[in-house]
Amino acid sequence: MKAINKINILQKIIKDHILNKNTIGFIPTMGALHKGHLSLIQKAKHENDIVVVSIFVNPKQFNKQEDLDRYPHTLEQDKALIQDYANYVFCPDVDEMYPTGFQSTIHIGDLANILEGEHRPGHFDGMATVVLKLLHLCQPTRIYMGLKDYQQCLIVEQMVKDLDIPTKVVGVPTVREDSLLALSSRNLLLLPKDKKPAAQIFVALLKAQELILGGERDARIVERTIKAELEHISKKIDYVAVRSLSLETIPTIDQDVVILVALYLGGVRLIDNIIVRL
Ligand code: AMP
Repeated sequence: MKAINKINILQKIIKDHILNKNTIGFIPTMGALHKGHLSLIQKAKHENDIVVVSIFVNPKQFNKQEDLDRYPHTLEQDKALIQDYANYVFCPDVDEMYPTGFQSTIHIGDLANILEGEHRPGHFDGMATVVLKLLHLCQPTRIYMGLKDYQQCLIVEQMVKDLDIPTKVVGVPTVREDSLLALSSRNLLLLPKDKKPAAQIFVALLKAQELILGGERDARIVERTIKAELEHISKKIDYVAVRSLSLETIPTIDQDVVILVALYLGGVRLIDNIIVRL
Protein backbone atom coordinates (compact mmCIF):
# COMPACT_ATOMS: atom_id res chain seq x y z
CA MET A 1 0.00 0.00 0.00
CA LYS A 2 1.29 3.40 -0.97
CA ALA A 3 0.55 6.47 1.15
CA ILE A 4 -0.02 9.71 -0.75
CA ASN A 5 -0.57 13.15 0.69
CA LYS A 6 -0.33 15.37 -2.37
CA ILE A 7 -3.17 15.90 -4.85
CA ASN A 8 -0.93 16.09 -7.94
CA ILE A 9 0.67 12.72 -7.14
CA LEU A 10 -2.73 11.10 -6.63
CA GLN A 11 -3.96 12.57 -9.92
CA LYS A 12 -0.98 11.15 -11.81
CA ILE A 13 -1.43 7.68 -10.30
CA ILE A 14 -5.17 7.66 -11.04
CA LYS A 15 -4.55 8.83 -14.61
CA ASP A 16 -2.25 5.85 -15.21
CA HIS A 17 -4.80 3.39 -13.80
CA ILE A 18 -7.57 4.87 -15.95
CA LEU A 19 -5.31 4.58 -19.05
CA ASN A 20 -4.76 0.92 -18.10
CA LYS A 21 -8.55 0.51 -17.87
CA ASN A 22 -8.37 -0.57 -14.22
CA THR A 23 -11.57 -0.37 -12.20
CA ILE A 24 -11.18 1.75 -9.08
CA GLY A 25 -12.95 1.22 -5.75
CA PHE A 26 -12.92 4.24 -3.44
CA ILE A 27 -13.70 4.52 0.28
CA PRO A 28 -13.73 7.98 1.86
CA THR A 29 -13.12 7.95 5.63
CA MET A 30 -12.15 10.24 8.47
CA GLY A 31 -9.77 7.72 9.99
CA ALA A 32 -9.81 6.02 13.42
CA LEU A 33 -10.51 2.99 11.27
CA HIS A 34 -12.29 -0.10 12.57
CA LYS A 35 -13.84 -3.29 11.22
CA GLY A 36 -16.79 -1.31 9.82
CA HIS A 37 -14.45 0.65 7.54
CA LEU A 38 -12.60 -2.58 6.79
CA SER A 39 -15.75 -4.27 5.49
CA LEU A 40 -16.15 -1.47 2.92
CA ILE A 41 -12.50 -1.79 1.93
CA GLN A 42 -12.64 -5.59 1.63
CA LYS A 43 -15.77 -5.39 -0.51
CA ALA A 44 -14.03 -2.84 -2.73
CA LYS A 45 -10.99 -5.10 -3.09
CA HIS A 46 -13.26 -7.97 -4.12
CA GLU A 47 -15.04 -5.91 -6.78
CA ASN A 48 -12.32 -3.69 -8.30
CA ASP A 49 -8.80 -3.82 -9.75
CA ILE A 50 -7.48 -1.23 -7.32
CA VAL A 51 -8.65 0.25 -4.03
CA VAL A 52 -8.11 3.81 -2.85
CA VAL A 53 -8.93 4.81 0.75
CA SER A 54 -8.91 8.42 1.83
CA ILE A 55 -8.30 9.44 5.43
CA PHE A 56 -9.17 13.07 6.00
CA VAL A 57 -10.88 14.62 8.99
CA ASN A 58 -12.89 17.13 7.00
CA PRO A 59 -13.27 20.36 9.02
CA LYS A 60 -16.08 21.54 6.73
CA GLN A 61 -18.47 18.86 7.94
CA PHE A 62 -18.12 19.63 11.64
CA ASN A 63 -20.61 22.19 12.87
CA LYS A 64 -19.05 22.26 16.34
CA GLN A 65 -15.35 23.13 16.81
CA GLU A 66 -15.27 21.01 19.98
CA ASP A 67 -16.42 17.92 18.05
CA LEU A 68 -13.64 18.48 15.47
CA ASP A 69 -11.02 19.08 18.18
CA ARG A 70 -11.66 15.79 19.91
CA TYR A 71 -12.18 13.61 16.81
CA PRO A 72 -9.72 10.68 17.21
CA HIS A 73 -6.55 10.61 15.06
CA THR A 74 -4.83 7.21 14.71
CA LEU A 75 -3.11 7.42 11.31
CA GLU A 76 -0.30 4.89 11.82
CA GLN A 77 -2.70 2.30 13.28
CA ASP A 78 -5.13 2.99 10.42
CA LYS A 79 -2.47 2.32 7.79
CA ALA A 80 -1.52 -0.96 9.46
CA LEU A 81 -5.16 -2.11 9.54
CA ILE A 82 -5.80 -1.57 5.83
CA GLN A 83 -2.40 -2.28 4.27
CA ASP A 84 -3.34 -5.74 2.99
CA TYR A 85 -6.52 -4.50 1.32
CA ALA A 86 -5.91 -1.02 -0.08
CA ASN A 87 -3.48 -0.14 -2.87
CA TYR A 88 -3.37 3.55 -1.98
CA VAL A 89 -4.20 5.60 1.09
CA PHE A 90 -4.69 9.28 0.43
CA CYS A 91 -4.14 11.31 3.60
CA PRO A 92 -3.80 15.00 2.73
CA ASP A 93 -3.55 17.77 5.28
CA VAL A 94 -6.18 20.50 5.49
CA ASP A 95 -4.15 23.03 3.45
CA GLU A 96 -3.74 20.52 0.63
CA MET A 97 -7.52 20.07 0.38
CA TYR A 98 -8.56 23.64 1.18
CA PRO A 99 -5.70 25.99 0.28
CA THR A 100 -5.96 29.67 1.16
CA GLY A 101 -8.60 31.22 -1.04
CA PHE A 102 -10.74 28.07 -1.38
CA GLN A 103 -14.31 29.28 -1.99
CA SER A 104 -16.64 26.60 -3.32
CA THR A 105 -19.29 24.63 -1.47
CA ILE A 106 -21.72 22.03 -2.72
CA HIS A 107 -25.22 22.83 -1.52
CA ILE A 108 -27.58 19.89 -1.10
CA GLY A 109 -31.36 20.52 -1.10
CA ASP A 110 -34.16 19.25 1.15
CA LEU A 111 -32.58 15.86 1.85
CA ALA A 112 -29.84 17.67 3.78
CA ASN A 113 -32.22 19.68 5.97
CA ILE A 114 -33.96 16.83 7.78
CA LEU A 115 -32.84 14.44 10.58
CA GLU A 116 -29.01 14.74 10.81
CA GLY A 117 -29.11 17.95 8.77
CA GLU A 118 -31.62 19.56 11.12
CA HIS A 119 -29.38 18.88 14.12
CA ARG A 120 -26.05 19.50 12.38
CA PRO A 121 -26.55 22.55 10.12
CA GLY A 122 -24.03 22.68 7.27
CA HIS A 123 -22.82 19.13 7.93
CA PHE A 124 -24.03 17.59 4.68
CA ASP A 125 -22.89 20.50 2.50
CA GLY A 126 -19.42 20.08 4.00
CA MET A 127 -19.52 16.33 3.51
CA ALA A 128 -20.75 16.65 -0.09
CA THR A 129 -18.05 19.23 -0.89
CA VAL A 130 -15.22 16.94 0.21
CA VAL A 131 -16.78 13.82 -1.33
CA LEU A 132 -17.26 15.55 -4.69
CA LYS A 133 -13.65 16.78 -4.61
CA LEU A 134 -12.45 13.25 -3.78
CA LEU A 135 -14.62 11.77 -6.55
CA HIS A 136 -12.97 14.12 -9.04
CA LEU A 137 -9.54 13.15 -7.76
CA CYS A 138 -10.06 9.37 -7.63
CA GLN A 139 -12.52 8.95 -10.55
CA PRO A 140 -13.71 5.68 -9.01
CA THR A 141 -15.81 3.06 -10.75
CA ARG A 142 -17.49 2.49 -7.37
CA ILE A 143 -17.64 4.44 -4.12
CA TYR A 144 -18.39 2.44 -0.95
CA MET A 145 -20.56 4.07 1.72
CA GLY A 146 -21.72 2.61 5.04
CA LEU A 147 -25.45 2.25 5.62
CA LYS A 148 -24.75 3.18 9.23
CA ASP A 149 -24.78 6.75 7.88
CA TYR A 150 -27.98 6.07 5.96
CA GLN A 151 -28.84 9.68 5.12
CA GLN A 152 -25.25 10.39 4.05
CA CYS A 153 -25.37 7.42 1.69
CA LEU A 154 -28.65 8.67 0.13
CA ILE A 155 -27.23 12.18 -0.27
CA VAL A 156 -24.13 10.89 -2.06
CA GLU A 157 -26.37 8.78 -4.34
CA GLN A 158 -28.48 11.86 -5.09
CA MET A 159 -25.44 14.06 -5.77
CA VAL A 160 -23.89 11.46 -8.08
CA LYS A 161 -27.18 11.24 -9.98
CA ASP A 162 -27.79 15.01 -10.11
CA LEU A 163 -24.26 15.83 -11.26
CA ASP A 164 -23.92 12.90 -13.72
CA ILE A 165 -20.86 11.49 -11.99
CA PRO A 166 -19.97 8.14 -13.61
CA THR A 167 -19.54 6.31 -10.29
CA LYS A 168 -21.75 3.63 -8.74
CA VAL A 169 -22.62 4.18 -5.08
CA VAL A 170 -22.47 0.90 -3.14
CA GLY A 171 -24.19 0.87 0.29
CA VAL A 172 -22.59 -1.55 2.77
CA PRO A 173 -24.40 -3.00 5.84
CA THR A 174 -23.41 -1.83 9.33
CA VAL A 175 -20.79 -3.85 11.20
CA ARG A 176 -21.48 -4.23 14.93
CA GLU A 177 -19.69 -5.23 18.10
CA ASP A 178 -20.79 -8.49 19.75
CA SER A 179 -22.93 -6.30 22.01
CA LEU A 180 -24.72 -5.07 18.82
CA LEU A 181 -23.36 -1.54 19.24
CA ALA A 182 -22.63 -0.20 15.74
CA LEU A 183 -18.88 0.28 15.29
CA SER A 184 -18.00 3.96 15.10
CA SER A 185 -14.85 6.04 15.45
CA ARG A 186 -16.75 7.98 18.11
CA ASN A 187 -17.05 4.84 20.29
CA LEU A 188 -13.42 5.54 21.27
CA LEU A 189 -14.73 8.60 23.12
CA LEU A 190 -17.35 6.66 25.12
CA LEU A 191 -16.71 6.24 28.83
CA PRO A 192 -16.58 2.56 29.91
CA LYS A 193 -19.82 3.06 31.88
CA ASP A 194 -21.63 4.20 28.72
CA LYS A 195 -20.70 1.14 26.61
CA LYS A 196 -23.51 -1.03 27.97
CA PRO A 197 -26.25 1.59 27.55
CA ALA A 198 -24.91 2.29 24.04
CA ALA A 199 -25.62 -1.31 23.11
CA GLN A 200 -29.29 -0.74 24.05
CA ILE A 201 -29.74 1.52 21.01
CA PHE A 202 -29.83 -1.37 18.57
CA VAL A 203 -31.79 -3.52 21.03
CA ALA A 204 -34.52 -0.83 20.95
CA LEU A 205 -34.40 -0.82 17.14
CA LEU A 206 -34.75 -4.61 17.05
CA LYS A 207 -37.77 -4.37 19.37
CA ALA A 208 -39.30 -1.81 17.01
CA GLN A 209 -38.72 -4.17 14.11
CA GLU A 210 -40.50 -6.91 16.06
CA LEU A 211 -43.40 -4.57 16.74
CA ILE A 212 -43.79 -3.76 13.04
CA LEU A 213 -43.43 -7.36 11.91
CA GLY A 214 -46.00 -8.25 14.58
CA GLY A 215 -48.51 -5.97 12.81
CA GLU A 216 -48.11 -2.43 14.24
CA ARG A 217 -48.64 0.00 11.34
CA ASP A 218 -48.77 3.37 13.13
CA ALA A 219 -45.36 5.01 12.65
CA ARG A 220 -45.90 7.44 15.56
CA ILE A 221 -46.66 4.60 17.98
CA VAL A 222 -43.45 2.82 16.93
CA GLU A 223 -41.46 6.04 17.38
CA ARG A 224 -42.97 6.66 20.83
CA THR A 225 -42.20 3.08 21.91
CA ILE A 226 -38.52 3.35 20.91
CA LYS A 227 -38.22 6.78 22.51
CA ALA A 228 -39.61 5.46 25.80
CA GLU A 229 -36.96 2.69 25.72
CA LEU A 230 -34.13 5.08 24.89
CA GLU A 231 -35.10 7.62 27.54
CA HIS A 232 -33.81 5.09 30.08
CA ILE A 233 -30.28 5.49 28.70
CA SER A 234 -30.05 9.03 27.29
CA LYS A 235 -31.10 12.46 28.50
CA LYS A 236 -30.66 13.96 25.03
CA ILE A 237 -32.32 12.23 22.10
CA ASP A 238 -32.04 14.26 18.88
CA TYR A 239 -34.56 12.15 16.95
CA VAL A 240 -36.26 8.80 16.58
CA ALA A 241 -37.84 8.57 13.15
CA VAL A 242 -39.69 5.91 11.17
CA ARG A 243 -39.32 6.91 7.52
CA SER A 244 -39.73 5.52 4.01
CA LEU A 245 -36.48 4.22 2.48
CA SER A 246 -36.12 7.60 0.74
CA LEU A 247 -36.60 9.31 4.16
CA GLU A 248 -40.10 10.70 3.65
CA THR A 249 -42.34 10.97 6.71
CA ILE A 250 -45.07 8.31 6.63
CA PRO A 251 -48.08 8.08 8.96
CA THR A 252 -48.77 4.43 8.14
CA ILE A 253 -46.22 1.69 7.71
CA ASP A 254 -47.38 0.22 4.41
CA GLN A 255 -43.95 -0.19 2.81
CA ASP A 256 -40.36 -1.06 3.80
CA VAL A 257 -39.08 1.51 6.28
CA VAL A 258 -35.89 2.69 7.92
CA ILE A 259 -35.91 3.62 11.60
CA LEU A 260 -33.23 6.15 12.51
CA VAL A 261 -31.97 7.26 15.89
CA ALA A 262 -29.53 9.92 17.10
CA LEU A 263 -28.76 10.49 20.76
CA TYR A 264 -26.07 11.57 23.19
CA LEU A 265 -24.40 9.36 25.78
CA GLY A 266 -22.07 11.20 28.16
CA GLY A 267 -21.52 13.96 25.58
CA VAL A 268 -20.83 11.54 22.69
CA ARG A 269 -23.31 11.67 19.80
CA LEU A 270 -24.25 8.27 18.43
CA ILE A 271 -26.43 7.36 15.44
CA ASP A 272 -27.86 4.06 14.30
CA ASN A 273 -30.65 2.70 12.13
CA ILE A 274 -32.42 -0.45 11.03
CA ILE A 275 -34.12 -1.24 7.74
CA VAL A 276 -37.38 -3.11 8.27
CA ARG A 277 -38.73 -5.00 5.26
CA LEU A 278 -42.41 -5.92 5.38
P1 AMP B 1 -16.30 7.89 8.77
O1 AMP B 1 -14.85 7.60 8.90
O2 AMP B 1 -17.05 7.82 10.06
O3 AMP B 1 -16.57 9.13 7.96
O4 AMP B 1 -16.88 6.67 7.92
C1 AMP B 1 -16.37 6.35 6.66
C2 AMP B 1 -17.30 5.36 6.01
O5 AMP B 1 -17.37 4.18 6.80
C3 AMP B 1 -18.74 5.89 5.88
O6 AMP B 1 -19.27 5.49 4.63
C4 AMP B 1 -19.43 5.21 7.03
O7 AMP B 1 -20.83 5.06 6.82
C5 AMP B 1 -18.73 3.87 7.06
N1 AMP B 1 -18.89 3.24 8.37
C6 AMP B 1 -18.66 3.78 9.59
N2 AMP B 1 -18.97 2.91 10.57
C7 AMP B 1 -19.41 1.78 9.96
C8 AMP B 1 -19.88 0.51 10.43
N3 AMP B 1 -19.98 0.22 11.72
N4 AMP B 1 -20.23 -0.42 9.50
C9 AMP B 1 -20.15 -0.15 8.18
N5 AMP B 1 -19.71 1.03 7.68
C10 AMP B 1 -19.35 1.99 8.55
